[in-house]
Amino acid sequence: MFIRVKTNKKGEIMVMGHCMKCKDKKEIKNAVMNKTAKGIHMAKGTCVKCGTTVCAILGKEAAEKAMKAGEAKKNF
Ligand SMILES: [Zn+2]
Repeated sequence: MFIRVKTNKKGEIMVMGHCMKCKDKKEIKNAVMNKTAKGIHMAKGTCVKCGTTVCAILGKEAAEKAMKAGEAKKNF
């Protein structure tokens, strides 16, 4: 699974992930960011469309961007 952070037309940061149920890229809401012992960022949240839990690894830069924008809650 993968996740990414993108900016929409309004300039808002959105956390995107691949929902297994929708089989598509969806916006993730209530994202919570965790960091593993090895320094890897893990985001966990729910699919905005179906509510399925989506979790994935993402890069440091993207993780920091999402947390700064308030789109992902820092949990480490
Ligand atoms: Zn979904």
